[in-house]
Amino acid sequence: MPVPFIDLRRFEPDFMDRWMEIARRVSENTAFVGGPEVAKLEDTLKQRAECAAAVGCANGTDALQLALRAVGVGPGDVVLLPDATFWATFEAVANVGGRAVTVDIDLADGQMDFDLFVQAVEKYRPKAAMLVHLYGWSSARLDDFRTFCRERELPLVEDGAQSFGTLWNGRSIYADALIATTSFYPAKVLGSCGDAGAVYCSTEELAAQVRLLGNHGRVSHYEHGVVGWNSRMAGFDAAWLNLTLEYIDDRIASRRAACGRYDSRLSELGARIIGPPKGYLANGYLHVTLQDPGHRDAMMEVLKEKGVGSATVYPGAMSKQPGTKGWSDGAVGGENADFLSRGVLNLPVFHGIGEDEVEEVLAAYEEALSRTRATA
Ligand SMILES: *Cc1c(COP(=O)(O)O)cnc(C)c1O
Repeated sequence: MPVPFIDLRRFEPDFMDRWMEIARRVSENTAFVGGPEVAKLEDTLKQRAECAAAVGCANGTDALQLALRAVGVGPGDVVLLPDATFWATFEAVANVGGRAVTVDIDLADGQMDFDLFVQAVEKYRPKAAMLVHLYGWSSARLDDFRTFCRERELPLVEDGAQSFGTLWNGRSIYADALIATTSFYPAKVLGSCGDAGAVYCSTEELAAQVRLLGNHGRVSHYEHGVVGWNSRMAGFDAAWLNLTLEYIDDRIASRRAACGRYDSRLSELGARIIGPPKGYLANGYLHVTLQDPGHRDAMMEVLKEKGVGSATVYPGAMSKQPGTKGWSDGAVGGENADFLSRGVLNLPVFHGIGEDEVEEVLAAYEEALSRTRATA
């Protein structure tokens, strides 16, 4: 039985019929941009995130740009970000005119290294910093990041594109953030039927600023207080997300179950697993093992031959990307992010993945391990 790396078609039996009805209603009401579905979604997101306000927008990259602008980042301002993330985090800094400085990660949790971060703040005196909750959890030192930044009055933008449903000490990971973002790209944990995103704000003032920037700087219909852009959310996306939210807890539970099974079996096999530190309940977005970089591609070949999908999220550190040229003011720390990117191997996780599929993946992994060890 082949197992894909990801399969977005595992809809619950009644999902599609319900969606067709909702799509008809949204179409008949012509609520195509903004409207009641967006308002309902923002209210649900705010409650789930335990924050003061949530603002829907066009995608997760825009969410980052809106958040950076809302905390005052503009042309020439230095912004710190982790060296291991998706490229959009870096791009967001450049797109608002900022200068990016990358900070290396801690291989224990895969997240930005707090001690290096403190050194980078002393050296660069940044205007703002970004922390990424990578893989569906975040740093063991999340509270240290937040406290340090609050004391320094250094705005911390948290990229939570991968962390919908993640809990930190029993509360939403977004709950104590100054400002955090998420992405509803279809392959994310809460995925839409197109591109969409949201910004979680700790104050109404920040939320008002995000709304202003994402709707042409409008203070009234034809009065523009600032230069923003159009990052409004579509009605169809909000309607799809509102429906999906009725199923999301079961979906996250199926992801967690798959990751739990991988963890226990792979640790028996002696695999090096990078997983959530103590205090987190991860959302099962990705499962992460670290392979010997010289060995990983051979492992993936065998998995492929057995019909099992795998991926390398992400195969390159930010500081090594050709696109950083002209936008980066430096890189702090060593080569951990680079090492992670050369060794990372992700096994299939998606909502609705069956226990039999998980067993199939594990059997293929074991075979790949014995065959590649034999030839190593
Ligand atoms: C997906 C992702 C983004 C970008 O979100 P889009 O909705 O695709 O624009 C940003 N940061 C991280 C860490 C992501 O995983």
